[in-house]
Amino acid sequence: MNRKYRKTVIAGNWKMNMTASEIKPFMDQLKENMPKPRFCDVVLCTPAVMIPTMIKAGKEAKVFAGGQDVSKYEKGAYTGEVSATQLADIGTRYCIVGHSERRQYHGEDDLLVNAKARALLNKGIAPIICVGESLEQREAGVTMEYVAYQVKAALSGIDATHVRRCIIAYEPIWAIGTGKTATAEQAQEVCEGIRAVIRKIYGARPARSVSILYGGSMNAKNAAELLAQPDIDGGLIGGASLKPVDFSAIIAATNQ
Ligand code: PEP
Repeated sequence: MNRKYRKTVIAGNWKMNMTASEIKPFMDQLKENMPKPRFCDVVLCTPAVMIPTMIKAGKEAKVFAGGQDVSKYEKGAYTGEVSATQLADIGTRYCIVGHSERRQYHGEDDLLVNAKARALLNKGIAPIICVGESLEQREAGVTMEYVAYQVKAALSGIDATHVRRCIIAYEPIWAIGTGKTATAEQAQEVCEGIRAVIRKIYGARPARSVSILYGGSMNAKNAAELLAQPDIDGGLIGGASLKPVDFSAIIAATNQ
């Protein structure tokens, strides 16, 4: 982390779990365990239908609501889609794009991820852009090459002012939901590489202000070591974000 130049962000990805009626009890428990003081932004990304409940429940504890996906279109005949305008209108501050599950199960490619990130930025929502290699790619030694390509593609056409509001989440696919975490050194190496890619495109100042998160089986035990790395500015957390005690322990790990 480097709190001097950029925000620390702990974001939970609830995926298609929980219900709106479970949010208040969750938040009550999270509040009880929340470290005081706290030095990071806390976000919980829920299915779109639960965002208004999350915004209401998270107000007191300053927990922001995030989306998990957005349409690339502004409006119109796109049944089932949710637009950035609609997310912004209800007060959504962050939204995940390009999660590996969307890339894998919904055929999202880099072009679409870029269009979604731009749609969000146009409406003042910070995109959490997910990138990361498969196990085969890591074993073939092409991790950085592939991740650099994903980052460049996702940021295509985004200017320096807007890039400062982007958050990049490095999520090695082999570490998501598997209990296998990248070592702190592996995660730092790629996050540092991502910052170098941003520096090459936009220069030193924008690069040092972009928050880069690690995601992939981050938990209460491994969070402190990962977050101690200079280029890891927070976490995108799946499983552990569903348990208020575990999630608050990860938040507490940013108080170092
Ligand atoms: C995720 O889905 O973004 C994620 C990192 O999940 P988990 O923490 O469960 O590996």
